[in-house]
Amino acid sequence: MKEKLLGKTPDELKKVALDAGLPAFASKQIASWLYEKRVSDFESMSNISKAGREKLGEMFETGVEAPIGIAESFDGTKKYLFRTGESAVEAVMIPSEDRFTLCVSSQAGCKMGCRFCMTGRQGFHGNLSTAEILNQFISIPESASLTNAVFMGMGEPLDNFDAVMGAIRVLTAPWGFAWSPKRITLSTIGVIPQLKRYLDECNCHLAVSLHNPIPEERLEMMPVQKAYDILDVVDLVRQYDFSGQRRVSFEYTMFSGWNDSKRHADALIRLLRGLECRVNLIRFHEIPDFPYRCASAPAMEQFRDRLNNNGITCTIRASRGEDILAACGMLAGRCSNGNR
Ligand code: SF4
Repeated sequence: MKEKLLGKTPDELKKVALDAGLPAFASKQIASWLYEKRVSDFESMSNISKAGREKLGEMFETGVEAPIGIAESFDGTKKYLFRTGESAVEAVMIPSEDRFTLCVSSQAGCKMGCRFCMTGRQGFHGNLSTAEILNQFISIPESASLTNAVFMGMGEPLDNFDAVMGAIRVLTAPWGFAWSPKRITLSTIGVIPQLKRYLDECNCHLAVSLHNPIPEERLEMMPVQKAYDILDVVDLVRQYDFSGQRRVSFEYTMFSGWNDSKRHADALIRLLRGLECRVNLIRFHEIPDFPYRCASAPAMEQFRDRLNNNGITCTIRASRGEDILAACGMLAGRCSNGNR
């Protein structure tokens, strides 16, 4: 299998250029073709000699591979399907008035086993490489229009830390997409060691999938709670400054009878008191064969109002692309409205 170039820095591309018999400065040209012009093949790299392009093609792949499937919602949301090894992963493009947000996957399946999640139920089939993560951005027709990214698709991004950080490096580098970190949000269920690294090494936004503020109840649905208590996750988050450019939000998917009561709202208020943050309430998209039901609209509104009345900014997130996402579990549950 040939080595893929997507994800490499200009420095790393120097070796590629030299191996292909090109001058070292060709690394900058290759980076520009990959990340600015977002071409899929070496043939299009017209300022590189023909012999050089042929040599690159013999030795390497760009890593850009077209999606193998697409579903489009009545509201303009599009779900793309990508082949990875023996399985497939999804990315969802969510257009809104002033932005195009891509919700990307970081793993094929997931090890974390959250009981309400279709991806969790499928088990783990492997980490995506940096090239496979970036391909979700580059190979879709809307690539040039994308403005924001949320790592909220399939998988736990902090369980594939290096590949995800490699993708974020390309998205934010001046030689890459040159996006501001505030255009990117990573969502995690709270894998503490990697979360600390993420907060230390990266200025992008953070979304924590909280879902229940009461540890023993959270454990019923989210096995990660056993290793990493949500109380410790919030303690860690409190050590960082979210009063400026970087923001933290807490994702709270609402289930009837599990986490939608006044008792839960009060526990959440106590847990987050004094933290500069926002809570996003998410409707649970019911999945066939899953025993869980979405909280009622009045229960969600009361929950939201109780948080807001107690000084915690809380919104009910508008759902997008329900008609194409409803069967997907993870994406349907978490990727409902892109970045805030
Ligand atoms: Fe994995 Fe996220 Fe699904 Fe949990 S909710 S199983 S972390 S993909």
